Amino acid sequence: MELSERVKRIEPSATLAVLMEKEKLVARGIDVVDFGPGEPDFPTPDYIKRAAVKALDENKTKYTASGGIMPLRQAAVEWHAKYLGTHYEAKECIINAGGKHSLYNVTQALINSGDEVLIVAPYWVSYPDIVKCADGTPVIVETDARNGFIPRAAEIEKAITPRTKLLIINSPSNPTGAVIPEDEFARILDVAKKHNIWLLSDECYSHFVYGKAKPFSIAGLPGAKDHVIISGSLSKTFAMTGWRMGYTLAPQQLADAVLKLQSQSTSNPTSIAQYAALEALRGGLDSVNMMVAEFAKRRARIIAGLREIPGVSCHEPEGSFYVFPNVAGATTGSRTGASPCDTVQVAKELLEREHVVVIPGEAFGAPGYLRLSYATSMERIEEGLRRMSSFFRAETAVSSAAMRG
Ligand code: PLP
Repeated sequence: MELSERVKRIEPSATLAVLMEKEKLVARGIDVVDFGPGEPDFPTPDYIKRAAVKALDENKTKYTASGGIMPLRQAAVEWHAKYLGTHYEAKECIINAGGKHSLYNVTQALINSGDEVLIVAPYWVSYPDIVKCADGTPVIVETDARNGFIPRAAEIEKAITPRTKLLIINSPSNPTGAVIPEDEFARILDVAKKHNIWLLSDECYSHFVYGKAKPFSIAGLPGAKDHVIISGSLSKTFAMTGWRMGYTLAPQQLADAVLKLQSQSTSNPTSIAQYAALEALRGGLDSVNMMVAEFAKRRARIIAGLREIPGVSCHEPEGSFYVFPNVAGATTGSRTGASPCDTVQVAKELLEREHVVVIPGEAFGAPGYLRLSYATSMERIEEGLRRMSSFFRAETAVSSAAMRG
């Protein structure tokens, strides 16, 4: 079958292979510790679920306007104003079927063939493929682990060419957890303005911040709105990953373009999910604050546990619910002949030998690292750390024996 060039250009999700292996082990009754999840392990709060049930009972099960019901668009901009300090109007907000759908629509609406899109590495797995789907060219801007993977305006500026159209920023970051300090973010915005490129800010994890970091939106800075597009998501903030609720905030002309695309593709996001989202946005932040308080404890434990493993280093991220340790110094690859930085192999062996799921850094453009989600119970974190410790200690023992030999 001759498939389109577009579909041939992209890859299925890089996390899929590990997850398929995990399913095989679980089916055999093996106790697997899963550090893979990209979603909170908490259920959707009851008040949100009840709103969906009410919508069902009231037969709100028909088409809605393609860009979402007006009360929800209004609630989204009010929520964003209240908690992130922005000033959007409802007509500048389009409701999408999740943040990924927002990113997809925005890139489809903006990018022409050959346009370059700057992506900060380590990056969320889907960015390069979403850009390729829009016939764009991903251009990767590396960050430095020694600076906590925080992108610098000066580095971003160096990567800009006359073909650059868009810069995608994700703070807090998946996979590194890095939170860009507000002054650096402002400098990045200045670079975008100076070179007349769009800054697409993926705020999926905006409320998952720890320590001194605070939820922040670059769109709240004076004069930002003309250069900034926001992709927002209710998935993580309200533990609603399966409901598929997200939004785009953008200048009117772009919001209209996103709406036009959506009207000719998915049409409206699911009606009853929209009524649930309305309640979520009107219901305050208690549920996300509760999750963040729990995640903060797990974060401290997992970082401490990883740092105890010889050869593993782990910076302390200020956001999201992931840690991104470097394990290149803790593995020899001697069993497989692979390079120590081949973390696809490390993840495979960790799963086979210790039944622990981690996502290899290669999926995020960063070999040598592993991504661990701490959206799992403290008890599973303890068990996973024990198994990882035993795995890497065995690796180091092989390495020392090889050096002596
Ligand atoms: N952006 C980032 C950085 C993510 O990690 C994810 C999900 O993992 C998304 C966007 C998409 O989330 P959703 O489509 O569920 O809103």
